[in-house]
Amino acid sequence: MSTKRQDVQRLLGDLDPETFREWGHEIVDWIAEYLKSPEKYPVLSKAEPGWVRGRLPASPPEQPESFEAVWRDVQTIILPGLTHWNHPGFMAYFGITGSAPGILGELLCSAFNVNAMLWKTSPAATELEEVVLDWLRQMLGLAKDFQGIIYDTASTSTLHAIVAAREAIPGLDVREQGLAGRSDTQMLRLYTSEQAHSSVEKGAITAGIGHQNVRKIAVDSDFRMDTAVLERAIVEDLAAGFRPFCVVATVGTTSTTSIDPVPAIARICNQYGLWLHVDASYGGAASLLPEMRWVLDGCDLADSIVVNPHKWLFTPVDLSAFYCRRPATLKQAFSLVPEYLKTGQDDVVKNYMDYGFQLGRRFRALKLWFVIRTFGSEGMAARVREHIRLARIVADSIDQHQDFERMAPTPFSTVCFRAVPSGRQTPDLDGLNQRLLEEVNRSGEIFLSHTRLRGQLTLRMAIGNIRTDEAHVRRAWQLVEGSLAKLAPPRDPKDL
Ligand SMILES: *Cc1c(COP(=O)(O)O)cnc(C)c1O
Repeated sequence: MSTKRQDVQRLLGDLDPETFREWGHEIVDWIAEYLKSPEKYPVLSKAEPGWVRGRLPASPPEQPESFEAVWRDVQTIILPGLTHWNHPGFMAYFGITGSAPGILGELLCSAFNVNAMLWKTSPAATELEEVVLDWLRQMLGLAKDFQGIIYDTASTSTLHAIVAAREAIPGLDVREQGLAGRSDTQMLRLYTSEQAHSSVEKGAITAGIGHQNVRKIAVDSDFRMDTAVLERAIVEDLAAGFRPFCVVATVGTTSTTSIDPVPAIARICNQYGLWLHVDASYGGAASLLPEMRWVLDGCDLADSIVVNPHKWLFTPVDLSAFYCRRPATLKQAFSLVPEYLKTGQDDVVKNYMDYGFQLGRRFRALKLWFVIRTFGSEGMAARVREHIRLARIVADSIDQHQDFERMAPTPFSTVCFRAVPSGRQTPDLDGLNQRLLEEVNRSGEIFLSHTRLRGQLTLRMAIGNIRTDEAHVRRAWQLVEGSLAKLAPPRDPKDL
């Protein structure tokens, strides 16, 4: 071979199988240690903005680098720039879990690297998705007529629900005619509560509904959609010439985990002919427990519902399960089959590309299948139940503490609270709670996030990681208490 040919040859092909095997073992061993004790790392990254970028070359390497060099940079540059969602002290936003079976499922998913767009492009990917989503449907206690599809995130699921709802409006024909520039259409209206996730508004914006046509319905004292206000808004809109078409209810809102009264909302939707979508991204998981099944009451009357296994069901990001009782409408909204994607089996199989805007689809069902089989539905329920029990411990501690108050009911595993030091001068409660949050998060042991409820800064402790146990939760509470004592020391008893 000429030297020139050798030079080219050197640049071709994959990493050789032996090197792959070596590094595969090395990395799996590393992951096993990491998952054993993620507490070795501070939960919240201490990296300043630009720290990671500043350590990376601005241009790509021209010549192949050794895997050693890459792995070294993972250790020295990437790891310090990580916020460790696997850390048992991660209690911000909503806790999630990269469980071991889920990680192995992800690994295999990228190894197979199949595209689940058509049944033909990987029959196992399509059929496992059908089966595993039907398993999950049964675990959640949802009716048989819900058909499932996996999307990446709840945001995507809700966008698809809104587009299907738009498609279901008789005579509008948005699919063909679009919404803009028409004189024959009314403004569409979508309703969701003030406490709904921002993805509902983003979905409406993306679907061309218009941000101003999302009506955010007031909530009651427990942060649940007020159905009397909802009905008034619909009647008002009808009288004003708008076209109400969709309500998005939430089971487990993001700030407080409140549960909208879905049965009453379903009745209203039925009366006015509106599509009901339920966002149960986080809270739906609790329906695995017989004693919590009530959280999805009324959802069998919904047109669609989303539950995120990548949130509270131990499946690595991303995997969102979308269920629809009107799959023909969903298909009507999205199906467009060019010649090169036609197959001989189209009449007898499901081609998942017909039920969404994306063509290429990862084989996500694999990781959920691994998780469900490895833990069993009872094992998954037991873990969720334990998180609810741990949150109860925190909620009770707060209720018994004179210097703290709970800001919302705690139906799931997320506790909303703030410090209200008794017998001390604290004119600026928001400022104090902001400092408390910063102080607690500086510890590196736990990471809490915040929200604002009735205008007041509120701290959230969200328990949802498989590795979080009672000792971690008690330690977290001790840190919160200790930090408050530091920031607002009790007055000297003789001053009282
Ligand atoms: C987390 C969450 C979402 C967004 O989920 P993604 O999968 O990140 O899009 C939507 N709604 C609720 C209620 C959530 O808790």
